Amino acid sequence: MKKHHEDWLSIEESHAFQTKLKALHEITRLLSEADSVDAVCRLAVELGCDQLGFNRLGIWFFDEHDENYIIGTFGIDEEGNIRDERDQHIKVNFKEPFLELFQTKAIKALRHDGDLQDHAGNVIGQGELVVTIFWDGERKLGWLSVDNFISNEPVTNTDLELLALYGATIGQIIVRKRTEHALHISEAAALHFQSKLKMLHEVTTALAQPTSFDEFCYQAIALGRSKLGFDRLGLWFFDSDPEYIVGSFGTDETGEIRDERGQRVSSKTGFENMVEMLDGRVFASTQNGLLYNDRQEVIGAGWTAAAVVWDGNNSMGWLSTDNFFKQQPLTHYELELLALYADTLGHLAAVRKAQDTLTSERNMLRTIIDTVPDFIFVKDLMGRFMLVNRASWEAATNANTENDLIGKTDFDIHEKELAEHYWQDDLRVISTGQPIQNVEEPGHIADRTRYLLTTKVPLYDPSGKIMGLVGVARDITHLKETERQAHDLAIERERIQVLKEFIANISHDLRTPLTVINTSLYLLEKLTDPQKQQDKLLIIKQQAALLERLIVDILTMFRLENIGKPLHRPVNCNDLLLNICENLQTSAREKQIMMTINLAKNLPKLQGDQDDLHRMLANLVQNAIAYTPDGGKVIITTYLHEPTNSFVAEIADTGKGISLNDLPHIFDHFYRVDKARSVETGSGSTGLGLSIAKRIVELHGGKIEVESILGEGSIFRVFLPYLQNNP
Ligand code: ADP
Repeated sequence: MKKHHEDWLSIEESHAFQTKLKALHEITRLLSEADSVDAVCRLAVELGCDQLGFNRLGIWFFDEHDENYIIGTFGIDEEGNIRDERDQHIKVNFKEPFLELFQTKAIKALRHDGDLQDHAGNVIGQGELVVTIFWDGERKLGWLSVDNFISNEPVTNTDLELLALYGATIGQIIVRKRTEHALHISEAAALHFQSKLKMLHEVTTALAQPTSFDEFCYQAIALGRSKLGFDRLGLWFFDSDPEYIVGSFGTDETGEIRDERGQRVSSKTGFENMVEMLDGRVFASTQNGLLYNDRQEVIGAGWTAAAVVWDGNNSMGWLSTDNFFKQQPLTHYELELLALYADTLGHLAAVRKAQDTLTSERNMLRTIIDTVPDFIFVKDLMGRFMLVNRASWEAATNANTENDLIGKTDFDIHEKELAEHYWQDDLRVISTGQPIQNVEEPGHIADRTRYLLTTKVPLYDPSGKIMGLVGVARDITHLKETERQAHDLAIERERIQVLKEFIANISHDLRTPLTVINTSLYLLEKLTDPQKQQDKLLIIKQQAALLERLIVDILTMFRLENIGKPLHRPVNCNDLLLNICENLQTSAREKQIMMTINLAKNLPKLQGDQDDLHRMLANLVQNAIAYTPDGGKVIITTYLHEPTNSFVAEIADTGKGISLNDLPHIFDHFYRVDKARSVETGSGSTGLGLSIAKRIVELHGGKIEVESILGEGSIFRVFLPYLQNNP
């Protein structure tokens, strides 16, 4: 045995120690360059043997999770070769005396005589075993052990000293390597996190696309997995009862997206083994726990986390993830990303929900206006359609959808005249702000002319400026048709009534001369006196003539009642009047009536029926002569009445005039002021002349009026418009 119990060193020993210290220095440099903890351990064992002369060397780490165990790294086997002992995990008997070393923080090595063991703890012989602990400053990291199994040489004090130094050196280098490694990992993670943040931006943009809330949830899960790299994800929202949450979409155990919309579970479940992290934004398990599927059945083990989905003010639900597929603990960055993603989803979901509500309200409104059979439209200030309902575009001839009308104006759709009419209405509403209500106007629907009842009201923008108008138009053609039919029916009834009276009058008026004729004929047969016979013959002639006039007047009346419009030929009424006066000159002269004619010069010709106009004017002049006593005057005047652009013929007389009682009736059929002065007297008065005259004037678009003072005379005035005649 050498003097290993001695406390001093010989000169040779001192030299050898110096040499080894130098070698230790070089070894330290080499170990520092190793690129991993494993490489440091392997090299330390190798160089410890080769350069520092240790016999069998081994490096072990304490198990962080169980202090009764140590974990192998590298060592020297029984043949002196280096051995990979990283798979070793052995229990240590800390009762062994040398292990008092654990009680102290000092860096020192202890020697121990006794059983020597191999790497697996099997006893392989007897000898010396020296162990030194290395620290990371705070905690014991592991130990460095040396025995003399191969050399059988005793371990010297310098060996002990050297080992303690070597252990300390290795400890420091390992700590540094671990720190470097951790730093490296965290840098990589930071880079990874940055790339995920960029991706989160893309995902946010993509999530603005879905058209419905459900589609949005589906995409949130799909993109969360494919773009952000989450393992399994699940998106849950609080029920109206916050005790419960309801599912949306999630990832199933095969990685596919699962529809979890039917799921409703207690909002308390799943958080039992989680802790609050990131200021309560995330709840996460700190170690492997049980993982569940959507039916709360256990599907495996792993880490879980859930982040609160915030809409900015309230918690809407949560986004959960686990590591079912990766089986790697959730890193801090992943939790941060989860929290950010949940935040993003919360905000987007809130916007999406608001949009969905708005959309469904808008859809409802749209359905309503599209169901209404009235035409509803919105126009801008230029009269362009901004909105039209279904009824509107269906009625338009050249549109198959609403879009076929949007941006167009009435001028693109209707004839110019109709479009102009609508545009004038629009302009009035837009410029005055006054609505147009229930106006009846023509319309054009599916190539047919219709009647519309239209209301247009101004449309204001939020600042109170008029930005267009809203219109509602109802097709009232059917109503108008019914109204027109009712009106036609009333007229027809009136005509029938008039006809009835007319027929009653005719039969009376026809029967009277016939009776006179019959009576006269009867008497004629009886009479023998030639003079009396002559008298009766005269009466028969007069009555026959009256009968003929009556029949002619009745036929004329019927004809005029049944024609719509008179002939349109140029007629010179002045010439007609001259001709009439000439014809009646004899009758006037017989009664010493002076006829005066004042005809305006250069009057344009009228358009009309010459025969009827002649008949009408002749009747008026005839009446003037007939109802004016001998020696009276008849004055005929024509002129242009500018306000109505009419030709006027005035026939005035100084006759007997017409009483106020009779005046309103003189244009009625068969009306005679002097009832007796008709058939019986053989005066030839039929009582049809003025009603025929009135009808002729009306057919020419004109009017006839009369002024009369009983005992002084009458003025008949006929207006015949040029406009109607010369369109
Ligand atoms: P008649 O064939 O009886 O003349 P009219 O229809 O022409 O029938 O006239 C109706 C009635 O109006 C006449 O019966 C007469 O009493 C009255 N009347 C028409 N013209 C005049 C006139 N110029 N002056 C006075 N009475 C007139």
